Amino acid sequence: MRRELIRSTSATFHYSTVRSGRLTELCCQKCQANLEILQPNVDRPDQFLAICSMCGTWFRVETRIGGVRGVMVSLPEIVSLVPNEEIIPNHSGLSGGDR
Ligand SMILES: [Zn+2]
Repeated sequence: MRRELIRSTSATFHYSTVRSGRLTELCCQKCQANLEILQPNVDRPDQFLAICSMCGTWFRVETRIGGVRGVMVSLPEIVSLVPNEEIIPNHSGLSGGDR
């Protein structure tokens, strides 16, 4: 396994509380469009990713099992977190690799 250099950055995250039973009704905090809800880890049924169908913003949504409310956090774009010179264009659309 190749080891990558880990760096740090600071960011402000915007969040809102959501009703746990109404995740399918969630709207984008930026453009109010409907969100596509994904559950990437079946072992964690309280955690979701939500992606805006209009502006493409990603959100992480976390609820508590049996809880009434959860929290939705807007995930920042990578380009807003790291210097431009660290993002090397890759025409295949995939990152990394030693091809
Ligand atoms: Zn949006």
